Amino acid sequence: MAARLTLKFWGVRGSTPTPIAANLGYGGNTSCFEICSSGGQRIIVDAGTGAFNLGRRLMQDAGPDGMSVDLFLTHFHWDHIQGLPFFAPLLQPGNRVTFHAAPPPQETRRRLQCQMMNPFFTLDFESVRGQREFRQLQNETVQCGDIAVTSFPLHHPQGASGYRVRCNGATIVVATDVEHGDAKLDAVLLEHCADADLLIYDAQYTPEEYASKQGWGHSTFEAAARFATEARARKLILHHHDPTHDDRAIDEIVLQARRLFDNVAAAQEQCTIAL
Ligand SMILES: [Zn+2]
Ligand SMILES: [Zn+2]
Repeated sequence: MAARLTLKFWGVRGSTPTPIAANLGYGGNTSCFEICSSGGQRIIVDAGTGAFNLGRRLMQDAGPDGMSVDLFLTHFHWDHIQGLPFFAPLLQPGNRVTFHAAPPPQETRRRLQCQMMNPFFTLDFESVRGQREFRQLQNETVQCGDIAVTSFPLHHPQGASGYRVRCNGATIVVATDVEHGDAKLDAVLLEHCADADLLIYDAQYTPEEYASKQGWGHSTFEAAARFATEARARKLILHHHDPTHDDRAIDEIVLQARRLFDNVAAAQEQCTIAL
């Protein structure tokens, strides 16, 4: 039986890419996910450096008529957009990329223009050859084929969007980047995580590290386990690994998290989860 939804990790790291040998078990690229339905629909969440490899793969599979890509940006911090200038489908004629994000369309466009502005990149954002569309998605649901995506606000500096993704009765919630501790937004998050089959949560810090990093916008495996328990999520994936955490450190974090929530793992590049 085909999976109702599959999620593949193309980038799992927070803050900055970390391509050193000790990190490559989990991966060194920054945030990027591919979610596909059994009906053949695909959405992408975030365009961190993992988007480079995803873009190459998509181009290998593309037909002569090009492709349509729906890209949901959680926010505009570097680690979530850094792969965009190197995302091949955006650069090739015949393709269409639809950007879904919380700001109004003209503001999302302006931010992406700034990212690729002279002298920061060779190509101007307005001169890329793929078609671009911009849609505002703020506290509402958009339907992409058979996949429904609902956005909700997360507690993070300059704001970020969480996404609840549903198809054929399966639910994935992407909650990165987020810091626990804001009562109102914690309640919104909990409501959207309710009964999720898969919760992807920002667990950048250990509780010890968090003590000196409060207000930086990120969370811990302990908070992740608490949300997953309260929301009755079936599986928890720890995401947005700190750049100082090598594979051994992440293994240890998973072991500690498992004492709090049984069905937990760490996001791992190139790994696919089928629901
Ligand atoms: Zn981030
Ligand atoms: Zn961020």
